[in-house]
Amino acid sequence: MKSGRFRPGLKLKGAVLLALLLATVLAVLSALVLAGIRKDQRTELEQSFARLADAANLRVRQEYLTVETTDTAAFMSRNGQRLAIDLGEQSGMAVTLYDNDGAFVGTSLPIQSRADVSDALTYTARGQAAYITEGDQLLYLAPLYGGDQRLGSVQFHASLADQHAFYESIRRLFLLTGAAVLAGGFLLGYYYVRRQVSVIDRLNAAAQQIGQGDYLTKPSVRRGDEFGELAVGIYDMSEKIARSVRQLTKEQEKLLATIARLQELEQQQKQFIGNISHELKTPLTSILAYADLLEMYRDDPALLEQAGGRIRDDAERLYALVEKALQLSAMDVYEFETHAESVPLRPLLENAARRMQAKAAAAGVDLETDLVDGTVWADPDNVMHMALNLLDNAIKYNRAGGAVTLSNRTETRDGARPAAVISVSDTGIGIPPEAQSRIFDPFYTVSADRSRASGGTGLGLALVRSLAEKQGGNVRLAASGPDGSRFELVLPAERPGE
Ligand code: ADP
Repeated sequence: MKSGRFRPGLKLKGAVLLALLLATVLAVLSALVLAGIRKDQRTELEQSFARLADAANLRVRQEYLTVETTDTAAFMSRNGQRLAIDLGEQSGMAVTLYDNDGAFVGTSLPIQSRADVSDALTYTARGQAAYITEGDQLLYLAPLYGGDQRLGSVQFHASLADQHAFYESIRRLFLLTGAAVLAGGFLLGYYYVRRQVSVIDRLNAAAQQIGQGDYLTKPSVRRGDEFGELAVGIYDMSEKIARSVRQLTKEQEKLLATIARLQELEQQQKQFIGNISHELKTPLTSILAYADLLEMYRDDPALLEQAGGRIRDDAERLYALVEKALQLSAMDVYEFETHAESVPLRPLLENAARRMQAKAAAAGVDLETDLVDGTVWADPDNVMHMALNLLDNAIKYNRAGGAVTLSNRTETRDGARPAAVISVSDTGIGIPPEAQSRIFDPFYTVSADRSRASGGTGLGLALVRSLAEKQGGNVRLAASGPDGSRFELVLPAERPGE
């Protein structure tokens, strides 16, 4: 992130910090060294002057003891100039002598020293040495003795130029080194911090990548330090986020599928209600019409007979419709209770065929069976219901002189549970290919007239399919063509888990 205001980055801060640290260390060090040098120079100077003063005292004492006088002032004024020159040669320095009163008595210099030394002379009068510095010049004053007598003071005139030059050269050296250390420290700090910052930049980029939903495939940095641990932490976090996002997406998809299914069911239900209202109205309208006719023509025996027959047919159709519709909707609404048991299939199917025999004969259809022993794990009433529905259709949608065959077999496939297959084949009118996928839909009929004429409701196959699925099986149109159709009802042959 960038802001308009200048913010020194880590690189600059780190570099400045290191440079300042090094420079401070060097400044403290150089201050200590320079103070040491100054102290050392002073001690050495004091010692060498003390030696010079001792030598001067020796020389003057010898001179004083050889003369027969006790007048120190007279001695000094008489010998001062000569002694000053002698001492000057002896020490290699400019020497000036004063008597006890502080009066000038001689000097080794061509001209008299003009320096005001009265302050220093008060020290020498008390027997102490003193010195005065003025720029590169140093005046050292010490008392002079001749035996027990104080004779006056001696003054050495020295130059400090060399010492000052040495001190200055060391100071300059430190300054130069300081500047170099400052620059070197800055560069070193900058380089080091830049390397660390590049790692931070990579971690930052990884975090932004995750923010954009692009999850990491490996840690963005591999290092043995805390940065490495942070990179692994970010990677783990990315993994977890990716996993929960995947899970959420999956759940969202499931939810959407459920919503779609619910919408479909709602649509189906609406359609079902619309259809059933229509289907109920048709026979009722016919019944009402005959009731009106009967009221009008009470004495017409022919009408009476016709109306009786039609009212009965319509009432039967209404009955069948209501019964199947109730059964179907009950199955959707209530948790369907099946009393599944192991049922011997052969006697059950023989019974079903027997019950449909009369209807087959009436339709001129030959109903045959081709049954084998076998069991089915289901509610026997439901199996009977499904078999009767399939047989009923096979007879209804047949031709005069046609045939219907009811057969069964037990199918065992690798890894699958054994299945009881009940097969109903006919030599009927067949189902056109475009209608085959819809015949199990409620109220669907290929030909409404034909279905109605044979007492059909369009609910039979829908009911068979619902029942079969509730029993853990299914029903399918195995084959259909101009020569007839074959329906197969597949149900578990044994108790689940056996
Ligand atoms: P319906 O009460 O009209 O018989 P079904 O749900 O049992 O209703 O069947 C739906 C439609 O499927 C029927 O109207 C018919 O057109 C067709 N159909 C069902 N069984 C057969 C069959 N064995 N042969 C030809 N058509 C059939």
